[in-house]
Amino acid sequence: MIDAPIATAKPRSDCPACGGGALKSLLHLPAIPVQSCILLDSVEEGAAFPRHEMRLTFCEDCGFIFNAAFDERLIDYASTTEESQHFSDTFNAFAKKLVEEILATWKLQGRKVLEIGCGKGDFLRELCLAVPCEALGIDPGFIEERLKTVDGGSLRFQREYFETAMVEMCPDLVICRHTLEHIGEVRGIVDDILPLVAGRPDAGIFFETPDVGRVLREGAFWDIYFEHCSYFTPGSHARLFRAAGFDVTALRLDYGEQYIIQHARPANGAQTAALPAEEPMHELSALAAAFPAKVAEVMTYWREFVTSRHRDGKRIAVWGGGSKCVSFLTSLGLGPEIAQVIDINPFKQNRFLPGAGIQVRAPEALAESPPDTVIVMNPVYLDEIGRSLAGMGLSPEMVAV
Ligand SMILES: [Zn+2]
Repeated sequence: MIDAPIATAKPRSDCPACGGGALKSLLHLPAIPVQSCILLDSVEEGAAFPRHEMRLTFCEDCGFIFNAAFDERLIDYASTTEESQHFSDTFNAFAKKLVEEILATWKLQGRKVLEIGCGKGDFLRELCLAVPCEALGIDPGFIEERLKTVDGGSLRFQREYFETAMVEMCPDLVICRHTLEHIGEVRGIVDDILPLVAGRPDAGIFFETPDVGRVLREGAFWDIYFEHCSYFTPGSHARLFRAAGFDVTALRLDYGEQYIIQHARPANGAQTAALPAEEPMHELSALAAAFPAKVAEVMTYWREFVTSRHRDGKRIAVWGGGSKCVSFLTSLGLGPEIAQVIDINPFKQNRFLPGAGIQVRAPEALAESPPDTVIVMNPVYLDEIGRSLAGMGLSPEMVAV
């Protein structure tokens, strides 16, 4: 993190995915927190946290969406971030399913696996428990003390940013989950990964990246935040990898259609044609064209939803103290209207959110002061949260964004 204010640079005028210049503005947020996964120690620290502008931009040539005002120098992933979702049963079940899928697709027994952006290492550990292999995870935010050891196989971590030169391993599979959306130079990193697997037809890559399709269709502004500078649909995702010399072999949406799942191999001559999950470019252009009006409508709806209940003296809790919550609150300019922010992740509890400066509490806090309304930041967790509330004898109005 650099402390000096950064002069607002001219917005980027070429597409980081295809280099094209046919760009269209989708959304301008003048000042959003530059990190939304960070944990802070006080209300004041939360409120004073650095902000920067977001210029969400659409490339009419390849369909890629990016923040043209992104400045990676503003984000420090080596600082205390808390992106792990591994405290949720729903997410853990999904991770287990993905491990099975990876083992069914790629022969990994006794072979080498590299995970770029491994976070706290939970997924790689899960994989190593399922198959004996040599695994290396790279992430600047890795915390060794948090990971239980794995018996058998070999699991190592490098606490740093990914650079091809730092990888001594010759991986048979490169895994990259929820990382590409944090990288500004998306074509650059795909170009950097190709040599790690090139020339070996049985080596390949597995990518999992959030899908921006729902954000466009539903005006889901809470899914837009500063760390996410790059936004994909299945089509723009596959086009990027194909252009860089990969053959995309499998592509679909999963996890309530929220994540793009892609398997690919280095292309050896002919490449597979577009896959069924790839939306036609004209459909994507139409969604992008309708987005500015849609997002304005959705922001008005939620601002009214919260302020009207607050006016009537109702207690509103937000369940989910992650990036979506930070974006939801700061994009709408909310703070005092929200009585509580709840998260099941013990590492988030009692810390403070950047922007609104609200303290994150454990679910039990709701039993002490019951809410009238609970806004759930991810519909995937509605059942899980409903059961937790019922377990505490609570039955508030529950709505998911
Ligand atoms: Zn482009």
